[in-house]
Amino acid sequence: MNIVNLELAALVLSLLCLIYSLTANRRQYHLSKGIKSNLLSQHFVFLVMLVTTIFSSASSVGGARLQAIASERVLFWQYQLHAYYFFFHITLSVSFALYIMNVTGASIGRSRRFYVLFSLPYLASEILVLTNRFTGFVFYMDEQFLYHRGSLIVLIYAAGFAYILLGFLFFFRYKKAISRANSQAIAVLITLSALGIVIQGVRSEVMVELFSESLAFLGMMIMLEERIGHIDPVTGALNRVALVDASRRLIETDQSCRIVLVKLTDLELFSRLFHGREMDNLLMQVSAWLTSISSEQRLYNYRSRDFAILYPDKADEEAAAGADAILKRFEQEWKTGEATLRLEAAVSIIRVPEDVSTLDELTELLTVEHLKTGMGSRLVPFDELSAYQRDRRIEQLLREAVDEKLLRVWYQPIWSAESRRTVAAEALLRIDSGPLRELSSEVYIPIAEQCGVIREIGLFVFEEVCRFLQNERLDAMGLAYVELNLSVHQFMYDNLAERFEAIRARYGIPAQKLNLEITESASTGETPIAEQTMNALRAIGYTFSLDDFGTGYSNLVQLISSSYKNVKMDKSLLWDSAHNKTVARLLDSLTRVIRSLGYNVVQEGVETLAQLEQTERSGGNLIQGYYFSPPLPEDEFIAYLEDEARRSMRPPELT
Ligand code: C2E
Ligand code: MG
Ligand code: MG
Repeated sequence: MNIVNLELAALVLSLLCLIYSLTANRRQYHLSKGIKSNLLSQHFVFLVMLVTTIFSSASSVGGARLQAIASERVLFWQYQLHAYYFFFHITLSVSFALYIMNVTGASIGRSRRFYVLFSLPYLASEILVLTNRFTGFVFYMDEQFLYHRGSLIVLIYAAGFAYILLGFLFFFRYKKAISRANSQAIAVLITLSALGIVIQGVRSEVMVELFSESLAFLGMMIMLEERIGHIDPVTGALNRVALVDASRRLIETDQSCRIVLVKLTDLELFSRLFHGREMDNLLMQVSAWLTSISSEQRLYNYRSRDFAILYPDKADEEAAAGADAILKRFEQEWKTGEATLRLEAAVSIIRVPEDVSTLDELTELLTVEHLKTGMGSRLVPFDELSAYQRDRRIEQLLREAVDEKLLRVWYQPIWSAESRRTVAAEALLRIDSGPLRELSSEVYIPIAEQCGVIREIGLFVFEEVCRFLQNERLDAMGLAYVELNLSVHQFMYDNLAERFEAIRARYGIPAQKLNLEITESASTGETPIAEQTMNALRAIGYTFSLDDFGTGYSNLVQLISSSYKNVKMDKSLLWDSAHNKTVARLLDSLTRVIRSLGYNVVQEGVETLAQLEQTERSGGNLIQGYYFSPPLPEDEFIAYLEDEARRSMRPPELT
């Protein structure tokens, strides 16, 4: 009776688990096409385990009842139930191993050969059971209708044991892939089932094995099978949690995979035009289509407009074919409600571990936002994706640096060849603490320009320079003006002049002390606002320098038609002239021509006495460069000026 009660309890428990699994979370058990993809699904295998437990306990309960009757009348069924018991029990141990392989990610990317070998003991055992009627190798019934073990039953136990052992091995080998809480849970559950087997092995009359196994299933269901948190409520695809979970399994167990990212890039406009429900409908369609070319287990809708398809192993060709199919589909239209529309997608392929080898790197890439596609969908090369990601990270750090007031302004002396002393300085942005400290402004200024933070930075620099110029000692030491770099993006404010004026008025600095450096791109007349703003600022008394002259698009006509005070020759010209005679001659002539037109020529990047002499020979009258000083913090710059004044306004090397 004891036996029947425990097996009955196991039966009831497994039945309840099955009913719950099938009803409560119905959609997550939606079966996909093909036996292979089902066997590679943790949830399908879990269902198989539940069903086999139900059948084995049912056969066991039934068998025990019939054993009590033990007569010829029930012999047939008595035999059948024993056979069923073995049949299902072996299935249970195989599915246990498969389940552990699925949970730990160990099943991903295994070869066909592995699965053939894997299923051999199972098939052999089942053949033994199915042919037992003729051989009696597994069990037989004697004349008293009593059950006896057959000569080869040990093979069946050995196969079962091997699968359980394999499950254990995979569990320990890939344990890192499972989150800590889950792996502790699995360890407890495995121990529970193992305990059941041991107790029953030692005292065969206590048949607790199936009961402890079904208890373990209940636990697994609660802890591992609760996938509601893994599913996107709109599209029904796996969500971000699931993707991170799967990626962690792969990365932590050093397995390779390919992830095809599909980011819908132009949904902003549609979301303004359509209602929420229509948008949802559209996303569901995209999701359904993507499922059709991958599978339900592989498609992740990890953010509202971002999808990922995971290809196990080094499936380069498969991933490329997937990306190709996606791009082709996105050339066609999608329908939502009344509307027919075309969507743009940025598709890219990430190779794990070749491109990314940590979960952090991967999750950062997943969150790349506002990837531009230009016209139509396109394949975004990985390098672009990661450079884009790096830029966005710098953008975020820049914003933080602005908020946390980490920005500083340093000053680099500009030396006059005529008066032979420092007469001006260039204000240069520095971030001397935080993660951007290591990075050159040549890297982050263009990013600040792209994302618009440069406007805030520009106003900060302007205000800092005004505050700095309040120091009367600067006048006394002959500092006539400070040059500030102005980015073309700052001109996009149509009220830039008023903003500058408001700040300048607050500090009471004459406009003549502020010289604004702009690069050729800002001055080429492509931006009419720039021209207007420049004129307004000029009328107030600000002067302008043309920065980085000689690089990119040198427009001499533009130079003549706009009135600049200084032309700053780019340092690369000077540096190249050392080993290229043509460049040396060009620089020399340019300097002479520009000087003859009445502009000052500021030569940047003068690092040596030879360069200084060369510039002076050509007529360059203002010099900036490390030969005199690198950019300095405010107090060091003042000390520099004081020192220079003390040394009778001459650099020591030139005496
Ligand atoms: P730029 O305006 O051409 O500034 C001159 C750059 O050359 C500065 O680099 C300066 O440190 C460097 N330099 C000057 N003399 C020498 C030299 O002898 N040898 C070498 N190797 N370098 C020298 P920095 O400070 O890294 O700035 C790079 C660029 O970033 C600047 O080029 C400018 O375009 C931009 N930038 C810097 N601060 C600001 C700012 O406040 N606003 C804007 N819009 N752009 C800025
Ligand atoms: Mg400059
Ligand atoms: Mg420059």
